[in-house]
Amino acid sequence: MSTAETRYQEGRSREDFRHYDDTTPAVVREFYRLNHTHQTVSFNRAMREKWLKLDHAEMPVWDLMVELNKLVDDSDPDTDLSQIEHNFQTAEAIRADGHPRWFQLAGLIHDLGKVLWLWGEPQWAVVGDTFPVGCAWSPKIVFAEFFGGNPDALAPEYQTPCGIYAEGCGLDQVMISWGHDEYLYQVTKNYLPAEALAMIRYHSCYPIHREGEYGHLMNDEDRRLMEWVKKFNPYDLYSKGHTKPDVEALTPYYRELIGEYFPAKIRW
Ligand code: FE
Ligand code: FE
Repeated sequence: MSTAETRYQEGRSREDFRHYDDTTPAVVREFYRLNHTHQTVSFNRAMREKWLKLDHAEMPVWDLMVELNKLVDDSDPDTDLSQIEHNFQTAEAIRADGHPRWFQLAGLIHDLGKVLWLWGEPQWAVVGDTFPVGCAWSPKIVFAEFFGGNPDALAPEYQTPCGIYAEGCGLDQVMISWGHDEYLYQVTKNYLPAEALAMIRYHSCYPIHREGEYGHLMNDEDRRLMEWVKKFNPYDLYSKGHTKPDVEALTPYYRELIGEYFPAKIRW
């Protein structure tokens, strides 16, 4: 789960993040080879069936975050901080800029869906950039060349711009490659404002929020919410270059914030 070299560097500049090319660590390339080969329409349907009944656990949001601290994300070329440090760092950067409490909370919890990995899913089905499935892959998806190994490449109905969807149907109708974003959205959708939910659901979807692809599947509400996803992204990405947060000192503040929006236990 971890690499030899240290990815975390304090004080790096914005251009130094998200390099996906020959300089990308081999472990990250291999991660995307597996991800792009196996993220098919049928896999997506199977994961929804398996996880979205939310019958795997009933537990407090805080306990889940503590549990998740066992994980270091191989798909991320920019950090080897623990998950809890990344969560606190993201939330603290949002708080420092004076954003509302629901925005801070979105920062704190946005990666909790990574519990799928602890609960046995392969890492390629949990983390990394996401993208719509069931329609043509954008060439702007990182390591798009690896889609050559994906069985959906041979299904003509999945290879048109809209694929199995109607033009302008809205992203809610579109299956995004399976991972921690969609899972946590489904877990939290009854508790948070729409803007926070969009941040959670689409934060890994760089082809849409960064590259501006797939506009033909979006509706007006998606376009409105995507502005919030874009606002969120720098906190997720660039706070990785900041000083490590004092988790112990910050814990009371964030436990209270969780309690403001969530009941004692929720279904996972
Ligand atoms: Fe994430
Ligand atoms: Fe994150």
